[in-house]
Amino acid sequence: MTDSNKVALVTGASRGIGAAIARRLAADGYSVVINYAGSVGPAEELAAAIEMAGGRALTAQADVSDARAVTRLFDTVEAAFGGIDVLVNNAGIMKLAPIGQSEDALIDSQIDINLKGTIHTLREAAKRLRDGGRIVNFSTSVVGLKLETYGIYAATKAAVETLTGILAKELRGRSITVNAVAPGPTATALFLDGKTPELVGHLAKMNPLERLGSPEDIAAVVAFLVGPDGGWVNGQVLRANGGMI
Ligand code: NAP
Repeated sequence: MTDSNKVALVTGASRGIGAAIARRLAADGYSVVINYAGSVGPAEELAAAIEMAGGRALTAQADVSDARAVTRLFDTVEAAFGGIDVLVNNAGIMKLAPIGQSEDALIDSQIDINLKGTIHTLREAAKRLRDGGRIVNFSTSVVGLKLETYGIYAATKAAVETLTGILAKELRGRSITVNAVAPGPTATALFLDGKTPELVGHLAKMNPLERLGSPEDIAAVVAFLVGPDGGWVNGQVLRANGGMI
C-alpha cells in the first residue's frame, strides 16, 4: 500500500491492460475508477474482485469519444471520491489497413477514440486534477517501428505523444506530471484478435526477451510513473516492449 487517499481514474479498464492497471493501482492503495464503454459485466466483476481484496473501486460507463460523457465521468468521480489525483488514458482501439485502403470508418473511429478521447480527458484533467497529480497517456512502440498497416493507428498515438509533452509544460506550477507509456506487443484482445499463431509468434520474438508483454508488465510501468518513485519523470514517452525498439 502506498497511498490510500488517492483516487485514480483508468479509462478502458474493463479488459486488457486497463484492467491490470486498475488491479495494480488498487493493490497499491488507490481508490480506482474503472471506466468502460460497453463491457459492463467484466467491469463490475473487476470492481467486485478489487473490493473483495480490500480495495476501493467504482465502475463508470463513458465513451471517451463523447466529450459530454467525459465531463459527466469526471463529475461522477468527484461526487463519489471528492477529487481525482491520477488519470490513466488507457482506452483505445486498433484497426489495421494500408493507408491506401483505409476506409472512412477505420480512420474516424481511431481518431475519435484514441486521439479525441485522449484530448477530452486531458482537457478535463487539466482543469480538475488535484495538485501533485499524475497523468499517464497511452501510445505504442509502433510510433517508432513504423510497421506497414499501422499508419492511422500509429498516427493517432504519435499525436498523443505530442500532447503529452505540451500538457506537461502547460501544467507548470501544479506539481502534476504528464507522461506516456508506449507498449510493444502485449497479450490482450487488441493485439491477438485476427492474428495467426505464426504471426503472434513472430511478433513475440522481435524483442530480445523473446516473449509478448503481459498486461501486468505494462501496469507495473504505470504504477512506477504514478507512484512516488516516478515523480521526477515528466513529459516523457516510456517505451515498454522488452527491447523491441
Ligand atoms: P483491449 O484489450 O482491446 O481493451 C480496450 C479497453 O478500452 C476496453 O476496456 C474497452 O472497453 C476500452 N474502450 C474501447 N473503446 C472505448 C471508448 N470509446 N470509451 C471508453 N473505453 C473504451 O486493449 P489493450 O490491449 O488493453 O489496450 C490498452 C491500450 O494500450 C490502448 O490504448 C492501446 O492502443 C495500447 N496498446 C496496446 C498494445 C497491445 O499490444 N495490446 C500495444 C501498444 C499500445 P469495453 O470493453 O467496454 O469496450
